[in-house]
Amino acid sequence: MVPESQTSKAGTAPADSGFGALLLHSVLENVPVGILAVSSTGRILACNGTAEFLLRIIRAKIIDQEYSAVLPDHLCAAMRRQLDLLAAGDEAEDSEIDCEISANQSLKIGINTATLFDPNGESLGCSFIFRDMSLSREVQTLRTANEMKSELVRVVSHELKSPLTAILQAAEYLLDEPKRLEKDQLAMASIVNESGLWISGLIADLLDLSKLEGNQLGLDLEIANLNALVEDIVELHRTKPNITFELDLTPNLPNLRFDRKKIHQVLENFVSNAVKYSPGGGRVRIRTAQTSGHQISVVVQDQGLGIPSDQLPYVWDKFFRVDSKETAKIKGTGLGLAITKRIVELHGGNVDVESQLGVGSVFSFTLPLNLGEPVT
Ligand code: ADP
Repeated sequence: MVPESQTSKAGTAPADSGFGALLLHSVLENVPVGILAVSSTGRILACNGTAEFLLRIIRAKIIDQEYSAVLPDHLCAAMRRQLDLLAAGDEAEDSEIDCEISANQSLKIGINTATLFDPNGESLGCSFIFRDMSLSREVQTLRTANEMKSELVRVVSHELKSPLTAILQAAEYLLDEPKRLEKDQLAMASIVNESGLWISGLIADLLDLSKLEGNQLGLDLEIANLNALVEDIVELHRTKPNITFELDLTPNLPNLRFDRKKIHQVLENFVSNAVKYSPGGGRVRIRTAQTSGHQISVVVQDQGLGIPSDQLPYVWDKFFRVDSKETAKIKGTGLGLAITKRIVELHGGNVDVESQLGVGSVFSFTLPLNLGEPVT
């Protein structure tokens, strides 16, 4: 039996008025789980504010009362099961009950139980911890749905790969010997080839994204230099009509460890977007720099369409494309920047964008110098 001095009509109020006890009282009152302490004879010793809220009970009416006389039947039944287990020397089991909070709404409440001991190690009774499981269930359901969606994308994309390879090979065969075909047949073969390449790119993006989202894309780190990577990529775009490239590469930029193929993909996305979304031509400026925060930054600036400020926060979202007549005329899937952001973050870096409609955009990313061993 618990001495009366150890309990309080005010719920979890402390036995002494010391600072530590007050602190403990405040913590117990504010934790996001409900707590009920019950003596070994079934008397309610303590109840915190969260328990009042979750179980829809009034603390002043239940403290010092026999739990089975004042608590709702379904709650008592669950508590009795736990008390019986503990009395028999068995481990308590986690359980769940439904608590009605209004006519058509109920909460799933999870219950954990632990034995309460006095300073001499004697059993005083039992503490019941109640937590609202509804949210974690919803999160779990969403997580499962998301995993199923990623699996579906992975399977469908995988299944499309082989027939698509066959279509592309056939188109390539036809285009290799243009003399075999009439002019309009050649045009059709080109359309098949271009569309096939487009779908193939889309499938590659979808597979990359589902791997990145499922944390299945590992990094193949190697020591490399970002200046060299920038030069390689610009070479691929040099012949684009009406586009002038301007490189401002910091000399002696330190080497660092990164996944060359994936960062190539990031930079290629920034540069090809800068070219693609500058339909009237213009200058594309690429800058590299070592920042004070032990990072290297790469900045790609264009004088293209720009992005309206209200749409700017969404450019990193999957399938997002700027909603404008000009963008609609330019081919795209809205996946490149979503993949780019995830790849950079996987390296411990960050992406950023600034843009002004009709003036141009500045896309940038940083990579940490200390990913793996810094190498100079
Ligand atoms: P995609 O280019 O295939 O549509 P991205 O994910 O690379 O997909 O880009 C998302 C959207 O962001 C693009 O559709 C475009 O509207 C906008 N965007 C990206 N880069 C630029 C840029 N340099 N200038 C203007 N708009 C851009």
